[in-house]
This record gives sequence, structure tokens and C-alpha cells, in this order.
Amino acid sequence: MSQPAVTYELIKTDKKTGARLGKLHTPHGTFDTPMFMPVGTQATVKTMSPEELKEMGAGVILSNTYHLWLRPGEDIVQEAGGLHPFMNWDQGILTDSGGFQVFSLSKLRDISEEGVRFRNHLNGEKLFLSPEKSIAIQNALGSDIMMAFDECPPFDSSFDYMKTSVERTSRWAARCLEANANPDRQALFGIVQGGGNKELRMQSARDLTSLDFPGYAIGGLSVGEPKEKMNEMLTYTTPLLPADKPRYLMGVGSPDSLIDGVIRGIDMFDCVLPTRIARNGTCMTEHGRIVIRNAKFAHDFRPIDESCDCKVCRNYSRAYIRHLVKANETFGFRLTTYHNLYFLIKLMKRVRSAIREDRLLEFKASFFESYGFNKPGAKNF
Ligand SMILES: [Zn+2]
Repeated sequence: MSQPAVTYELIKTDKKTGARLGKLHTPHGTFDTPMFMPVGTQATVKTMSPEELKEMGAGVILSNTYHLWLRPGEDIVQEAGGLHPFMNWDQGILTDSGGFQVFSLSKLRDISEEGVRFRNHLNGEKLFLSPEKSIAIQNALGSDIMMAFDECPPFDSSFDYMKTSVERTSRWAARCLEANANPDRQALFGIVQGGGNKELRMQSARDLTSLDFPGYAIGGLSVGEPKEKMNEMLTYTTPLLPADKPRYLMGVGSPDSLIDGVIRGIDMFDCVLPTRIARNGTCMTEHGRIVIRNAKFAHDFRPIDESCDCKVCRNYSRAYIRHLVKANETFGFRLTTYHNLYFLIKLMKRVRSAIREDRLLEFKASFFESYGFNKPGAKNF
């Protein structure tokens, strides 16, 4: 077999934790891991230009198969030459399978071995998505990393339902591999499911690793379960995955969970969190979150985060950004979005340095202290 489109190079494993320093080689560049990937649902990271994303050091961004399938349609993206030229992004792109949206956005759905029948959340039209269809769409989009079509059942599903679902997801994963028309240009990652059950996580990991994917994701976590439970599942699941393949924890973007995920051997993360809260006027800082709308910032001419060197913090004040956000000015949301993404991308850079210098646990302790995660009763964010 020829070399997969995406490969992982392990540079160093932390002696005290499971953390890994590595490089992800893709057809659109090589990126340092662990890394955080901004989410661009509709082939755009909301309010950011590709030039700004590049400037802040975003290497791989996400896009969404379900949304692009419905609008504008994968045929139009393909006609443009794929997502990279369509959205003017020449670095890495990862597309999800659409499975998560089908299960989270549509209330009426019918799951069978073949796939899922459901209604389009935009106009109620009847649609069908299967492993083959999801991969055909992702092949047309031309992403560097594609995700296998899976079911993400509610975390509290019964053991019997979860087991049926995990087994079907494994069969779907094999069909996805078979359906990939461009394995030399597009790598397909399998997704380990199994909810909060160790036995099912083990079964899922064993099924998927036997199929030899070029990378593995851990799905079905960060869906409302307590953080301790997520960490427990990670501690258990990552050692079941091969050391020479990248590991991606889906849907995680709060600073504490990123660091806790890295400690348990995760290399890649994505989440809408930093961009979504930015559009509510909430910013991440070294000293925890601030809500820029609050009256206390009206006369505060300091930057969002005094220890941040992003272009927003170098040039704009809390008072000005508060004014823009309160006046619903787009520019205000651009500034908060830019800062939040920069904050997480830089956080991962600091995490990589800490792994390199054998001080990850010390870094975690000081960061958690400063962000406020150690305060009794601190909210988990
Ligand atoms: Zn900043």
C-alpha cells in the first residue's frame, strides 16, 4: 500500500504524562501537534479572513460536510477545484462526516444499517446520508482529513443501544474506508465511540484499529458529561490507539480540557467554543473569561488581555471593543474572535514548549491557578 495522505511523526513523549509532541504531515503542509483547529462550519471561520487565520498561526481548520452538502452543494465546491481554492485556504482542512449534525440537528430520523433518513433542518426536505454518501461528499470537497460517518448516541444511552450503535459504527467505518476514492490525497480517520462505557470504548478502539486508519478520533465526549468522566474515558481510550497515528479529540476547546486532553495523549482538538463565545462578547484571558459587555469595562482602556501580544490586544481597548459589541458592530465581533482564537493557538504553542522542556505539569498548575480553574466552585470552562 502507498503512503497515506496524512502521517504523524512522534517527536517526544512526556515522561510524566501521556503528552506527545509531534508533527502532522498533510498534502497542504506540516503542522506541529498538539494543536487546536478553528471551526469554519460554512467554509468560513465566522468573521475571520483566511489571511487573518494564517497570521495567527491556524494550521488546520475544520469545515462541515453536512452544511456544505446542503449549501452550496458539494458539486459547486468541486467545480471550484475543491474547498481549498473555493475558500482561498492553502493549508490543512479537516471535514467532519455530517453524522453529528444529522443526529443533533434533525429530530425526525430513521437509522438503519444502510444509513440515516432524516429531514433537512433548513426546509424539512427528506434526505438520506450513508457512509458512502458522506465519503463521496468529502471526496468532492477535497479535504486533507475526512472523518468516517458515525453515530454519536447520547452519552446516557442504555448499554444495549450503545453496543448496537458501536458495532454499526464499526461496520460503517469499514464501508467508509472502502468508499474513499482518493486515499493518496485524502486521509480518512476512524472515530472511537462507546459513550461512558469502558468495555464499549475498548471494543470500538479494537474494531477500528484493526481497520488500520491513518488517524483516530475520539467522539461522543464533551457532550454534557462531567469533565472527570471525559478525562476518565480519555485515560482509558488513548492507550488503545497506535502510537504512530494522530489522535483527535472532537469538540473540545475549553483551555482546561485542552491541557487535560494533551496530558492523556491527544494531538488534535477542534471546537466552536472560542468563536461562539466571542460573538457573545466573551473573551478568554490569562486570568479567566471576561464578558466585555459588562459596565465595568466602559472606562477600561487596557487591552482584553494584558499578557496577550495579538494584534487586537496591541491596538484596541476593552472600552472600545465593549462599545462596538454593545452597538452590534461586526468589527467588535471580529476583534473578540481574533483574540480568542489567537489565545487558544498560543496556548497550544505554550503547551508544546512545556512538553519539549519537561515541565507540562508545572505549566498546567500555573495556568489553572491563573485562569481560575482551581478556585472552589469554579465553573468548568
Ligand atoms: Zn489578544
